[in-house]
This record gives sequence, structure tokens and C-alpha cells, in this order.
Amino acid sequence: MKLAARVSQVTPSLTLAIAAKAKAMQADGLDVCSFSTGEPDFETPTHIKAAAIKALEAGKTRYGPAAGEPRLRSAIAQSLQADGLCYAAENVIVTNGGKHSLFNLMMALLDPGDEVIIPAPYWLSYPEMVRLAAGVPVIVPTDAASGYKITPSQLQQAITPRTRLFVLNSPSNPTGMVYTAAEIQAIADVIVAANVWVVSDEIYGKITYEPAQHVSIGSLGPKIFERTLISSGFAKAYSMTGWRVGYLAGPVELIKAASTIQGHSTSNVCTFAQYGAIAALEGSQECVEQMRLAFAERRIVILDLLRQIPGLTCGQPEGAFYLFVNIRQTGLTSLQFCDALLETHQVATIPGIAFGADDHIRLSYATDMTTIERGMERLATFVKSHL
Ligand SMILES: *Cc1c(COP(=O)(O)O)cnc(C)c1O
Repeated sequence: MKLAARVSQVTPSLTLAIAAKAKAMQADGLDVCSFSTGEPDFETPTHIKAAAIKALEAGKTRYGPAAGEPRLRSAIAQSLQADGLCYAAENVIVTNGGKHSLFNLMMALLDPGDEVIIPAPYWLSYPEMVRLAAGVPVIVPTDAASGYKITPSQLQQAITPRTRLFVLNSPSNPTGMVYTAAEIQAIADVIVAANVWVVSDEIYGKITYEPAQHVSIGSLGPKIFERTLISSGFAKAYSMTGWRVGYLAGPVELIKAASTIQGHSTSNVCTFAQYGAIAALEGSQECVEQMRLAFAERRIVILDLLRQIPGLTCGQPEGAFYLFVNIRQTGLTSLQFCDALLETHQVATIPGIAFGADDHIRLSYATDMTTIERGMERLATFVKSHL
């Protein structure tokens, strides 16, 4: 069958494929330790569920405005203001998750051939979205020595007359690294001088570990604020992955364009789900803190166990819930490593090649302590047999 050319330019999500294989093995009765899924293992907090149920019962079951429920847009603008970002409701569009927010942005901003600078390791959907929007991803590799962070001079060198956008993701998926305020300031200076856009993917902004702190690039002054777009959502901090509620914030003109695109593609986000999101923002933030503390505890345990395994190295993540592990000493590619580990030891991880780093694998520690302890034991046995 002849499909559109754009289809052949993108690859299906490897993370979803591996998670599916691990689930199939589990369904066959195999005892799988999974570190593959990029989602919190907690239930959505009760008061958020209750608000959605109440909305459903109150008849919030119809089409709403394409850009989102006005009360939710206001609540999001207020929470962004608390981060030092001067947005009103009209600067915000509610989208079908943070992923869709970025997709809308690429569609609204890019012309064919426009370049988007993406530091690697990157979240696997960034380059694919850019390609789907006919843009050109420009990948800038980083390594453990720089904490997997792009330096201002690397960014400067990657900028060309075709550069339209830079993608910043801090805290990062897959590395867990968090840029310091000074590092973000230095990047902001380059962005302002080059007069390009930056989109800050802040989906893990509420999940950082002391002393790291999330700083939003747009909060560093009026000049960089004018060049900033914010993408975020409820999935990670509030454990609402399946709800599909996220948002994009930026200049009114761009938000209007994204709303037009959304109005002809998905229309509004599920109406009663948006009421859950309102409750998430307006209610107590205690649930976010409880989950963060659980991740913090697991982070220490898994990092300690992992660092005892000869042949593997891993930096200390400062946010999100991933370990990005260097497997170079095994001599295996990341796909060989992850396939063999799953087949022979029933441990599911994600090959780094999906994130643009073939000598790494990603482990999510958004899972229980028992899985962490058993999984690390199996990983140690596996690596020992490959050194
Ligand atoms: C999970 C994730 C998102 C968006 O997730 P949604 O479920 O679409 O809200 C965006 N960026 C990164 C880096 C993520 O890990």
C-alpha cells in the first residue's frame, strides 16, 4: 500500500513497543521486572477523580471551547504566574497531553525546512514531531561529562539562518538532569541574541530532588519571556497519564493558531477530564509532594544498587524518575542489551538508541521497591555474564 511520504520519515515509539512486549510476557505468566514505562505507578489522587465524576454527573459531557474550559485556562495561567511567568488565560491552550501540546506547537510554528535544535539524549518524540511538521531536527549530542546538558557555545554553533526553535527539557527524560539557574540564564542569552524561539518542556518541573530546583527559562526576564513557549501537563506530577490533559502557553497569536489547528483536528480535550485538572490545580498540592518523596526514596535505593554493578556507570539524576545508564563496557548495542536482558532475565528497560544514545539504557524507577531490588539483582547477573 502506498502511504504518505511523511510516514516513512518517522519511526514507531520504541518505548511503547518494549512495554507491550514486557506486558505480553507477563500475560504468558512470566515474572517480569519492568523499568520500561515512563509513568508514575500511583493512582490518580482521589479528589481529582471525584471532581471528574462530579463533572460527569453534572452533565459536563458536551463539546467545549477548542482551547479549553475557561476556568482551567485561568487556573493554568495562575500556576504559571506562580513560577514567574506572566501569562493570562488567553495565553494558554489546553491540549490532549503534553505530547499534543508540542505537536500543536510544531504545526503552528514550522515551515518546511525550518530547523529545530534538540540536544541528545532527547525525549524520543521531539525529532519525530518536527519531521511530521516538515521541519528538520538538528541533533546536538551531549555526554556525561557535561551532565548531558547542552552548553551555550554548542547551542550557538548549531544556530543557522534556518533555526526556528530550541527544545529545552529540564528536568530531562531520559537523563533526569536539571539545568541550574546559571546554565539556563546562559542559554537564554544565546536565544535572545539569535532571536529564535525556545520551548521549555516542563512536564517534570514539580519532580526535582534537593538541592536541584526547577527554574523556568521564561522567568529570567522580559526579553527571554518574549521568546519562550511553555509545554507541560498533568500526567507526571499528578499521576494522570491516561487523562490526556496538557497545555501550551505563549504569545496570544501562537495560542490562537494552535487553537485553530486543534479546532480542526481533536477539538476540545475531554470535558470532564478538564474538571479533574482544575481540581488538581485548585486543590491541595500534598499529593504531588507525597509522590515526589516516594520517588526520592526509590532514587537513592536504585542508584545505590546500580552503582554496585561493575561495568555500568550512571550519573545521579536530579529530577524526573529515570536512571540513564552507560553500558559501553558490555560491548553491546543498546538494543542487543535490552533484548537479551528481557529475554534471558525478564527485566524490561529501554534502549538508549530511542533517545539518541546507543551506549545507554533507560530505567524508570516509578515502580515498587520489591521490583527495584529484584530487578537490580537480575541486572547484575546479566551484566556479569557480558563482561
Ligand atoms: C511524558 C512526557 C511528556 C508528555 O506526556 P503527556 O502524557 O502527553 O502529557 C512530554 N515530555 C516528556 C519529556 C515526557 O516524558
